[in-house]
Amino acid sequence: VPILAKDHKLNITGYLGGGSYSSVAKATFGDSQMVVAAKIIDITPTKAKEDYIRKFLPRETEIVKILQHDNIVRVYQVINIPNHVIFVSEYCANGDLLKKLKKTKSLPEDEAKFMFRQLIAALMHLSQFHIIHRDLKCENIFLDAHDNVKLGDFGFARVLKAGEKSGTFCGSRAYVAPEILRAKDYSGNAVDVWSAGVVLYIMLTGSMPFDDRNPQKMIEKQLAHRIRFSRSCTASTAAKTLVLEVLHPHAPNRPTYKAICDSEWLKSTPYYMKPQDP
Ligand code: ADP
Ligand code: MG
Repeated sequence: VPILAKDHKLNITGYLGGGSYSSVAKATFGDSQMVVAAKIIDITPTKAKEDYIRKFLPRETEIVKILQHDNIVRVYQVINIPNHVIFVSEYCANGDLLKKLKKTKSLPEDEAKFMFRQLIAALMHLSQFHIIHRDLKCENIFLDAHDNVKLGDFGFARVLKAGEKSGTFCGSRAYVAPEILRAKDYSGNAVDVWSAGVVLYIMLTGSMPFDDRNPQKMIEKQLAHRIRFSRSCTASTAAKTLVLEVLHPHAPNRPTYKAICDSEWLKSTPYYMKPQDP
């Protein structure tokens, strides 16, 4: 890969991480040799990768070309070389949110608010194009050098127009909405709203809202709509109320992104990017 990538002015300088079908390298790119992250996907056909190559990768490629937002990992170029596709993307110096939470456990409420507001801004951008992410979790929320949120990994995303339904199971069990866990059809972006609620709970508490090894028990807890906060959790009532509203078991009852921004917890929080002043 590196030898062919050089023709595209892409020079691999290090290793950042790896997933099931890809590895991500640190690299420099273009005439200016700016620092980038290069997601290198091996598309040599195998039975296991068939669905991914035929269905999900073309969707991801289409979607990342559409999206241009300060809180979404920018993809500068998609390079096609024999047996590989390379996504040349914005480099997120502070890694991902899971890594950060492993260090600090939970976040101070003001920091959680700032990051959640940016995440909602990214999701509002997706909804303008009827795009749902479907794999929203702390590992896919990247952070730039100032800890601004950069939503990434659109490997399960798809365009879902009003009235269209999907039944595909996507995402990680701990973050997935109950309608997906129960293998029901879903429509609209309520599945992403749910996952954002799980992320918010984790930011505020450092733990999972429905951590249960037993899938059946987990669904029961979700449907009961009872969200517990430990006594040591110092989050405000406004924050806890928003978590409860967002994690509504019945998808149509979940708030819209607009309603989330207008909630008691967020309404007086201006959206801004660091290091600029609010
Ligand atoms: P996968 O589909 O394999 O999960 P991801 O896009 O989530 O692919 O990337 C896998 C890992 O690579 C991430 O967990 C992270 O450690 C690293 N990584 C991915 N994109 C970036 C980026 N833009 N900047 C910095 N690190 C990244
Ligand atoms: Mg990922």
